[in-house]
Amino acid sequence: MSGFGEALEALGARGLLRRRRVVDSPCATRLVVDGRALLAFCSNDYLGLASHPALAAAAAEGARRWGLGAGASPLISGHQSPHAALERRLAEFTGFERALLFSAGYLANIGAIPALAGRGDAVFSDRLNHASLIDAARLSRAETVVYPHGDLDALAAALAASPARRKLIVSDAVFSMDGDLAPLPGLLELAERHDAWLLVDDAHGFGLLGPQGRGSLAHFGLASPRLLMMGTLGKAAGGAGAFVAGPDEAIEWILQRARSYVFNTAEPALVAHALLTAIDLIERADEARASLAARIAQLQAGLRPRRWRLLPSATAIQPLLIGGNEETMTVAARLFERGLWVPGIRPPTVPEGTARLRITLCAAHGADEVARLIAALKDLEAERDNPSARPGS
Ligand SMILES: *Cc1c(COP(=O)(O)O)cnc(C)c1O
Repeated sequence: MSGFGEALEALGARGLLRRRRVVDSPCATRLVVDGRALLAFCSNDYLGLASHPALAAAAAEGARRWGLGAGASPLISGHQSPHAALERRLAEFTGFERALLFSAGYLANIGAIPALAGRGDAVFSDRLNHASLIDAARLSRAETVVYPHGDLDALAAALAASPARRKLIVSDAVFSMDGDLAPLPGLLELAERHDAWLLVDDAHGFGLLGPQGRGSLAHFGLASPRLLMMGTLGKAAGGAGAFVAGPDEAIEWILQRARSYVFNTAEPALVAHALLTAIDLIERADEARASLAARIAQLQAGLRPRRWRLLPSATAIQPLLIGGNEETMTVAARLFERGLWVPGIRPPTVPEGTARLRITLCAAHGADEVARLIAALKDLEAERDNPSARPGS
């Protein structure tokens, strides 16, 4: 059989078919789907910037000045003044010599990593790294060494044993499905000891952690000539795109060699223009970061599950481990019926047997809204423990 029907049926039989919902409102904590109002705990718009009026106004102004498309790759004619200004601003904000703007975080990783490591080199990758880092390591043709999650001893042994010419350690800073922080000081120390580079993917730390939201590296006060950072602009920054920041020569090399940079049309200048305002808002968002911290504390103090397990995370990503695919998706569906949108996450996004609800908290969530989520989860947990108590069954 050459068709895909059977393959799709097999996915369905394993509870792995995914479906999209059409959202009929801007990204916010309140969403409209099929005419229904929902309270959402699913986006990575942690600071509520995605539909912030100041950013919509900046995008509109950017569109008036720059039109829609950039028309070409940055190395042909697509690199316009807003892109250049945003790169300077991002470098200054994150404390690196230079930053390079990409159209997406996925493209930044699959471009930068194969530029930094190739045949004869080795990439050392945390087992729970984001798919884009895994794909990037494969694309690089370097030997890939996957070390157990956060395990510095295992990484040290692998680095010591490696005969590779160039060594590159890659890690999520905040793990996207677990919410925990990588041991960044330890990773940098190992990079220094073993003459390796360290690339940190700060998709979920940029804008949130460190002074003024400068990111996970700033949170730990880390700086080094062998350090690179990837930050995304579609999550806390509320826009789209990403950047890689680092020492001048390494960034110049990535600009020259990253195929997803060289062969990708530049992101629209209107987006870069609006993102300049987004960085200003991030810098001044201490109050929003404090409300987010309060909501995280509220969820952890209030939920206390017995059947399920809230994973140890101090960040906005608060995963509730349920285990089975079927139970996870049933709980997600029951929450949805109650007007609460929390995504269920299944393999292959997470390891087999660790399906979970990925609760993301945002600064815009109110204490009453988090209380509503806690109450609903408590009800559903009691219902799973004692199915006959379910009303109507
Ligand atoms: C979202 C994400 C990416 C990809 O970024 P996009 O801009 O969405 O392409 C990369 N790494 C991590 C850890 C992410 O969570």
